[in-house]
Amino acid sequence: MREIQFKGLNPFAGSPKEHPMRRTMFRPTPAISEFRSRRRSFQFHAFWLLISLLAVVGAGQGRAQSVSPETRPLRVLVVTGGHSHDASFYQLFEDQPDIRAVVEPHPTAFTKNLIRDFDVIALYDMVQESQVPEVQRTKLKAFAEAGKGLLIVHHALVSYQEWEWYWKELVGGRYLLENRDGLTKSAYEHDFAMTVTPSSKHPVTEGMQPFRIVDETYEQMQILPSVQVLLRTDAKGSNDPVAWVSPYTPSRVLVLQLGHDRQAHENHQYRTVFRRALLWAGGRL
Ligand SMILES: [Zn+2]
Repeated sequence: MREIQFKGLNPFAGSPKEHPMRRTMFRPTPAISEFRSRRRSFQFHAFWLLISLLAVVGAGQGRAQSVSPETRPLRVLVVTGGHSHDASFYQLFEDQPDIRAVVEPHPTAFTKNLIRDFDVIALYDMVQESQVPEVQRTKLKAFAEAGKGLLIVHHALVSYQEWEWYWKELVGGRYLLENRDGLTKSAYEHDFAMTVTPSSKHPVTEGMQPFRIVDETYEQMQILPSVQVLLRTDAKGSNDPVAWVSPYTPSRVLVLQLGHDRQAHENHQYRTVFRRALLWAGGRL
């Protein structure tokens, strides 16, 4: 986390179209935009192909088969906003035919039909309660309660400091912006080289060896003892757990503290963990 960027540079102020940060904070990368338009084009062709097939099948005695939820690509909603980040983040969703990602930054992130349209939500936003209308937060909660998957990434650990359902039930921890409840506020450090070690048996870390990564650390985070730690580090300057499974039971929730910038996004083992985390949250692993 570079800094709390709401003060003096609130990405929610004024018209999103005119905001100077829109280009970096609210726009999907060209690759994603192109991906979306390719998807629209594909959907257009697929629609007419389907109509043609139905006509042929209707003339015969066959039956059209729809794509089952298990065989279609995992539908991921990627939520950003409230914190700048390297465009390399979006590479984590590219070139994987079994994953179809849509980027939706705040303030429109939770305005669509989440339960119908997505299998997993990946949160890479950093927002507080006052910045996301309650009606939208309710949709996020309903998504989780419906048993859908969630991946909480890096600065999303700073979100919703006062929303107990989010940090306590869903995530199982938070980055503390202030001293509170007898706890010292959390801290961060950039460009920190560390060794990360799998710490419990889980499909996401199956067969993985300890690996090196340069990333931003968080320390003095509040992490509930009930979480299942998946990755940990001995590095001084970081909390011991750097990835965990939340005890939240209605859905699968995986938390990945790692992932600040390009150095993490392009790390081979990080990419493996990230991909597996998406698939596991979506019930595919
Ligand atoms: Zn960061």
